[in-house]
Amino acid sequence: MKVAVMTGIGQIEYIEAAMPVPKDDEVLVKLEYVGICGSDLHYYENGRIGDYIVEPPFVLGHEPGGIVAEIGKNVTHLKVGDKVALEPGKTCGTCRFCREGKYNLCQDVIFFATPPVDGVFQEYVAHKAALCFKLPDNVSTLEGALIEPLAVGFHAAGQGDAHVGQSAIVFGAGCIGLVTMLALKARGVTNIVVVDIMQKRLEKALELGAEAVINSAEEDVSVRSRELTAGEGFDLAIETAGMEITASQCIQVVRKGSAIVLVGYGKSGMMNLPMSLALDKEVTFKTVFRYRHLYPTAIEAVASGKVNLTGIVTHQFDFEHVQEAMDHCVKDKSNIVKAVIKFS
Ligand SMILES: [Zn+2]
Ligand SMILES: [Zn+2]
Repeated sequence: MKVAVMTGIGQIEYIEAAMPVPKDDEVLVKLEYVGICGSDLHYYENGRIGDYIVEPPFVLGHEPGGIVAEIGKNVTHLKVGDKVALEPGKTCGTCRFCREGKYNLCQDVIFFATPPVDGVFQEYVAHKAALCFKLPDNVSTLEGALIEPLAVGFHAAGQGDAHVGQSAIVFGAGCIGLVTMLALKARGVTNIVVVDIMQKRLEKALELGAEAVINSAEEDVSVRSRELTAGEGFDLAIETAGMEITASQCIQVVRKGSAIVLVGYGKSGMMNLPMSLALDKEVTFKTVFRYRHLYPTAIEAVASGKVNLTGIVTHQFDFEHVQEAMDHCVKDKSNIVKAVIKFS
């Protein structure tokens, strides 16, 4: 099979590799779509994210949708030909976090495309069957590839205890900001405002159902937020941009007793925030690391029509053109909301 390998910063080459053989509790999946994530772009552009450093050759890609091509002998819930979304992290199952059901915090997780573990910009992958979620007939493998980011959105909405009757503001209208908005809507929140500096992304947010948008390059976020909430402030703010300024704005625009969920990672990892104001408001801060067992929720939300995932995809590139796809995404951030790799 063909594998797209990152051989250096900004460099992709193709190699031929042996076909993976599924173990007894695994299935072999023929990939159909793999999403390009912000983290893939960071590794491609900078060779690292924090302490995770790429040692080439390395395979990117962790948002897979595909078709079951072969099953291990202990696998009973899947059959050849099933469409599946693959959850990318294998956890130990025995540590304290795994036992508490917070397996996303497992220290021994093996996660696609997180150095040194290879990802799935390749034609086939053998993966634990328990982490392959069958897609209903009316959900495509393209949507399957987007279940991964949508699970992050559901985790963010869940951490914020999003519910009917609330007003919410989402900072950042990239893929994670948009899937977070969709997850909020699926949980019954109707009054959602989205903030970004890129007009194209804000238009996408409106198209996907935002009640209003704020272009923070042109408008005062605090003033507009007061207008949009009759002076009260939002019940819930979710920060997906990973910037100090947007995290500060979260504190400024929420009402007293509200919740703020931090999702975005900043460049330096440090932030200066108006904490006295946060204390005055008795804000509850929550954070998000990936997700835990939200694939079934995310798939059901798509199957039932509560979430329109395909609307997020603005660009598709063939597997033969991964380098071009990555370069395009790096250079044209303002026009690309979400790109996916399509396998033939
Ligand atoms: Zn991702
Ligand atoms: Zn564990």
